[in-house]
Amino acid sequence: MGRLSGKVAIVTGAAKGIGAATAELLASEGAKVMCTDVDEAAGQALADKIQNAGHLASFMTHDVTSEEAWEKVTAETVRAFGGLHVLVNNAGIAPEGHPIEDMPLESWRRTLAVDLDSVFLGCKYAIRAMKNSGGGSIINISSIMGLVGTPRSSDYNAAKGGVRLLTKVAALECAEAGYNIRVNSVHPGYIDTPLVRGVVERSEEASPNEMLGLLSMLHPIGRLGTAMEIGKAILFLASDDSSFVTGSELVVDGGYTA
Ligand code: NAD
Repeated sequence: MGRLSGKVAIVTGAAKGIGAATAELLASEGAKVMCTDVDEAAGQALADKIQNAGHLASFMTHDVTSEEAWEKVTAETVRAFGGLHVLVNNAGIAPEGHPIEDMPLESWRRTLAVDLDSVFLGCKYAIRAMKNSGGGSIINISSIMGLVGTPRSSDYNAAKGGVRLLTKVAALECAEAGYNIRVNSVHPGYIDTPLVRGVVERSEEASPNEMLGLLSMLHPIGRLGTAMEIGKAILFLASDDSSFVTGSELVVDGGYTA
């Protein structure tokens, strides 16, 4: 018996990085996993890989900024798998940095839409579905940048800080209503994923290898994290092992913010 046997999960941004590792891990622990992403080819390939490993998964194309898409994804998950117990609000972008004085409003709005509106919409539709499924666990992926400020990243920091407090409000509302739904945020340090590789390659200050070295040094543990190390923290929050944990923030950052 896996730690998520009989549970149904949605993982957004599941095509690569933290989302892909998490979807594989939750499925290996017995969950039926709806993988969603805007990247149809990679998302479908991931769902196929999980199925080929003998677990249950499906894929839906899903733009997390669209309310209509959220309604469709949650309804289809409940229809196909019989309920909803776990939502991992993981999809996100880390756009090119600008100081506030040069930040185009369109860039600001796009980041807030993908990194914060998405989490609000996910909570809205998951709470509705989970309360009809006997309860559940929502895990919102924030960042160390939702805890501390970083220059030239006002949009990302504001979105990830917003995710932190939105999580606490959702946790309190669900507890107060007696829904048996827990809501927590996860705050990764730098994790070696396509997102971070993109940030490193865009850097004008140093070569990609030098940048990776510099980022590693920001973590007292001396390296970047892996997607699976974040997946394991998410699994803890998704499972009954964390049955008394709600409204909390789990920092998984190799000591970055210590
Ligand atoms: P990634 O770029 O490797 O993967 C993100 C996935 O989200 C991609 O598959 C992408 O197609 C998908 N996506 C992007 N926009 C979308 C949209 N509008 N709708 C649906 N899917 C969309 O990123 P990652 O590093 O795995 O990051 C996952 C999450 O973790 C993000 O929320 C990110 O902000 C957060 N995070 C990452 C790090 C890190 O160092 N990698 C650190 C802290 C927080």
